[in-house]
Amino acid sequence: MPAVHRFIDDPRLAAYRRTLGPSLVKSAVTETLDAVRRSLPVGGDAPPYEMLLSRVAHELAGEESRGLVEVINGTGILLHTNLGRAPLAEEAIAAIGTIAGGYSNLEYDLEQGSRGSRYARLSSLLREVSGAQDALVVNNNAAAILLVLDTFAKGREVIVSRNQLIEIGGGFRLPDVLQRSGATLVEVGTTNKVYLDDFARALSPRTALLMRSHTSNYRIEGFVADVDVRSLAQLGRRAGIPTLEDLGSGALVDVSQFGLPREPTVREVVEAGIEMVAFSGDKLLGGPQAGIVVGTSVAISRLRTNPLLRALRVDKATLAALAATLRLYLDDAWRTRVPFYRMLGSSIEELQARAAAIVTRLDRAAVDATVERTIAFTGGGALPLAPIPSVALALVPRAGDPNGLAARLRAQRPPLIGRVEERSVLIDLRTVAPGYDAAVIAAVLAAA
Ligand SMILES: *Cc1c(COP(=O)(O)O)cnc(C)c1O
Repeated sequence: MPAVHRFIDDPRLAAYRRTLGPSLVKSAVTETLDAVRRSLPVGGDAPPYEMLLSRVAHELAGEESRGLVEVINGTGILLHTNLGRAPLAEEAIAAIGTIAGGYSNLEYDLEQGSRGSRYARLSSLLREVSGAQDALVVNNNAAAILLVLDTFAKGREVIVSRNQLIEIGGGFRLPDVLQRSGATLVEVGTTNKVYLDDFARALSPRTALLMRSHTSNYRIEGFVADVDVRSLAQLGRRAGIPTLEDLGSGALVDVSQFGLPREPTVREVVEAGIEMVAFSGDKLLGGPQAGIVVGTSVAISRLRTNPLLRALRVDKATLAALAATLRLYLDDAWRTRVPFYRMLGSSIEELQARAAAIVTRLDRAAVDATVERTIAFTGGGALPLAPIPSVALALVPRAGDPNGLAARLRAQRPPLIGRVEERSVLIDLRTVAPGYDAAVIAAVLAAA
């Protein structure tokens, strides 16, 4: 058997020494060598060094990917929930570095020299981008909904239209969330038709909230009727009942300028008179994971006094990244600064030129690589039916099946995640930042 130190000193394992630490690398080497030794017949020859090395590397790669590793998203899903949703803008990353790497005024009032509130930190910025009177940030949109329900509707009734009883991914089903928060769901209307009068007739002294939720992952078409946001807000105001809109994706800008279907912006829902509007920080906003509630001063200050908020609060890194992302929207250059909108804005010509350049570098690989027109999607439960024209590398292995190639691409560092379609693995370039083209080439050459 080769000596342990030969593996430990091998430059090909250097990256693992940095990411996992020398002692983990050493134990992976000794454990692998022990296992191989045990499996050898008495007097049998040890396998060649290179074979042992690749077995050790395989163990270490597995160990590493049990933690968080960077991946290249070649799926064409821009906000891929499994791959971490929105990539952050450079400004947001820099803000995390500055604020999280040291001390900050997170809960400190610099004027008074005394305790301040983290819950008020971003309210002026959020007022600016949404037009609402006040705002509050929690861990994610699910937490925001839970907080609103717990504050306003515990032990009372929430009226929801039957066409909006959503289930989004990860087990978030609106009826269950309502139940867990101690509220009673009152369903009105039918699956396809709901009228304002259905809501009006369901009002009772026990009504705590009128709720709308964005049907972000399905569409009901055909013989349909729905209640528009303005009418529901008016009904709530007339009856003295608070209104909540779970907007889900939370676009701050009109996404139809990118060829996507028209989505109501946060500002439009606020202007329609809804008292509380909740949305995610890491969907169409393009920021960190967060849940944002914007609304009237009265409603938001009630949310701020709920003790549950302590368990849902965001950390300084999130606040720093969210503030930096929101500030980008105050500037005309936001389109090129927020990665989500940069990806959305890449032209087909630009993607095709990149794909062609990559293909010419792959002629040594054991795959047939071509450039193909594809369809990308927003993802993240937003705009499920909005196809975005895109361009992919189509990789067809000369031997073996595409699933094997896809697995080998995932085994690279960084892993390259594509999607298998018929005989090819497609690597959609809309979700690959141009700076990663060289890494894509390296991954394909190594995997094929
Ligand atoms: C995504 C989504 C949520 C959950 O948001 P998270 O930030 O993932 O917790 C809730 N409601 C709707 C309509 C959504 O689209």
